[in-house]
Amino acid sequence: MTVYDVAIIGGGLAGCSAALHARQMGASVALFERGRCGAQASGVNYGGVRQQGRHVAELPLARRSRSIWARLADLVGDDCEFAVTGHLKLARNDGDMWELVAHQALAKSIDLSLEILDRSDLRRRYPYLGDRFSGGSLCAEDGQANPRLVAPAFARTARSMGAVVRENCAIERAVVSDIGFDLFVVGELVPFRARRLINTAGAWGARVAAWFGDVVREDVMAPNMCVTEPIPPLIGPNLGICGGGIYIRQTRDHGSVIFGSGLGIADRDALRTRPLADVTMESARAAIEMVPALANVLLVRSWTGIEGRMPDGLPVVGASPGLSNLFHAFGFSGHGFQLGPAVGAVLAELSLRGETETPINGLSMTRFDPPTTHPAAADAAGQT
Ligand SMILES: Cc1cc2nc3c(=O)[nH]c(=O)nc-3n(C[C@H](O)[C@H](O)[C@H](O)COP(=O)(O)OP(=O)(O)OC[C@H]3O[C@@H](n4cnc5c(N)ncnc54)[C@H](O)[C@@H]3O)c2cc1C
Repeated sequence: MTVYDVAIIGGGLAGCSAALHARQMGASVALFERGRCGAQASGVNYGGVRQQGRHVAELPLARRSRSIWARLADLVGDDCEFAVTGHLKLARNDGDMWELVAHQALAKSIDLSLEILDRSDLRRRYPYLGDRFSGGSLCAEDGQANPRLVAPAFARTARSMGAVVRENCAIERAVVSDIGFDLFVVGELVPFRARRLINTAGAWGARVAAWFGDVVREDVMAPNMCVTEPIPPLIGPNLGICGGGIYIRQTRDHGSVIFGSGLGIADRDALRTRPLADVTMESARAAIEMVPALANVLLVRSWTGIEGRMPDGLPVVGASPGLSNLFHAFGFSGHGFQLGPAVGAVLAELSLRGETETPINGLSMTRFDPPTTHPAAADAAGQT
């Protein structure tokens, strides 16, 4: 029976990138995805590729990811409509401006350049903006991509490099075994065997972690999204507001405008989601306030997706606290698309080399309650 060096549960962007990077490092890889690769959060998100505004614990990952986004075409044979549009975070008052200036200093410490703009800069450079904003912060190297394309491109490339990528293939349980892990596919009797296990199961990640006694709370969130008919080029950088609220981007190739704010609803057991009409109406109002010219543009669709949210809004990325050769990355709390490419690289390094060049200390599962050790972990320790 084949024993894989690495098994991966979950074919979102994090898992597909892990598969590609682990193959690049020469490991044998099997990835299992319950549906189609990139069909959950990784494929239905807003498409913002943003470093600006991230928590300090995420910034090193975001920096590394940005360098992967820049060479996407070489890496996966498709630029996935990645466009360096910039990201403009707008301030409504002095308090917001202070926050932007403080973040600028933080970003500078990791070589991320942000430009602070005042009200007159906004008027001159972005005349299509509404007049309620007192300034903003521009991250010129941020941008956007088409989420539909990215995880499938990573999966396709990993497969072409020899990874086994099994879609429509749900893992119903996995257990510690003599060589590492046995993974049981729904409807199949014989388990897949692997020396290392990577858990990139998205909003279902905490459930997979709990199979091994790594217990952490993961809730669900469902950002409410809208898209308009295509319009001539209007909006330059992706737009957001200090402290949250409406966010808007115009797609590079198609010209449609995508915007979001607030939450819809999602049922992670039934795999169902629903945007909410009142949230959509409020988003449209806020979008028109930000870009008044949108008042005459047709809204064609709204949607949402199933995203895992951790209690502190930061993902879990790193080794299991209780079990060796088990690695988790889930609970990206609404901002894991930009991080996905680097998360996969880091997981491949951690699992195959035992270390990574990218600082992820603040994302460890141990920041929550003291880790519990499942009997499976003790068994595994006894077998080595
Ligand atoms: C509407 C929306 C808008 C967003 N906008 C942005 C944005 O603009 N920028 C940004 O950076 N982030 C954004 N995000 C967040 C981002 O999309 C996610 O953080 C990211 O895609 C998570 O990737 P993932 O690979 O961890 O999870 P997912 O893409 O959810 O993939 C996990 C996969 O695991 C599979 N799986 C689960 N359990 C099993 C099992 N037992 N067996 C087999 N397979 C299993 C699932 O089917 C799923 O495909 C948004 C999210 C949503 C929902």
